[in-house]
Amino acid sequence: MSAILSLRGIRSGYDHADVLADVDIDIGAGAVTCLLGANGAGKSTLVRAIMGLTPARAGRILFEGADIAGWPTHRIVGAGIACIPEGRRMFPKLTVEENLRLGAYAKGGRLSRGLDRVYALFPRLAERRAQMAGTLSGGEQAMVSIGRGVVAEPRLLVIDEPSLGLSPLFVKESFAIIHRLNAEGASVFLIEQNVRQTLAISHAGYVLSQGRVTASGTSAALAADEDVKRAYFG
Ligand code: ATP
Repeated sequence: MSAILSLRGIRSGYDHADVLADVDIDIGAGAVTCLLGANGAGKSTLVRAIMGLTPARAGRILFEGADIAGWPTHRIVGAGIACIPEGRRMFPKLTVEENLRLGAYAKGGRLSRGLDRVYALFPRLAERRAQMAGTLSGGEQAMVSIGRGVVAEPRLLVIDEPSLGLSPLFVKESFAIIHRLNAEGASVFLIEQNVRQTLAISHAGYVLSQGRVTASGTSAALAADEDVKRAYFG
């Protein structure tokens, strides 16, 4: 499978300390690739490096052939990478549609097509487009937060811990949404701690421990890996 995004030798961190060392990851075009790892492993730091928020100190980030390491965030977003941050970040006092419009800010003119796509994916949001986002259920808020990433019609979606803080029912729903997005052609990089469900909907994955990739392979192979089982399935 060809990669839409390849990380090569990524080193990144804060102040005087490196958090990530020599990280190599390939995110398959049209696939769901996952990143697993315990609290503090460096997952968010890796997302920040991809999005140019905390630029990589060394290494290359190849997106469809271009090295985007060192690009400012707006240019990375403009090139077609959307990031859905952890938690259900949105503006509670704005309506559903206003929240979605903000997601398309970087894209300019093609908003109506993106909105149509989000409403086709989530008919429930279409019904509630004029409702204040803060009054939605947890699962509906998860849809708005994913919808904000989808509305800009990105080539790659980076989704950071979508299940964080959701009840089991909504966790299931949010994984179903990601599965469906991928079935419709989206390339997804999914950062999660919910190992079992993540491996069930992803094609390949990486395990990050203390800033290094310590295991990688197809999701089926990772699910069967003795070290991964010991560390994550108890
Ligand atoms: P979690 O699942 O808990 O969010 P994570 O895998 O995303 O964890 P990071 O947030 O990337 O881990 O943190 C990795 C390390 O970097 C931690 O030791 C953390 O304390 C440190 N760190 C994170 N953000 C900063 C920052 N802004 N300044 C300094 N150190 C930071």
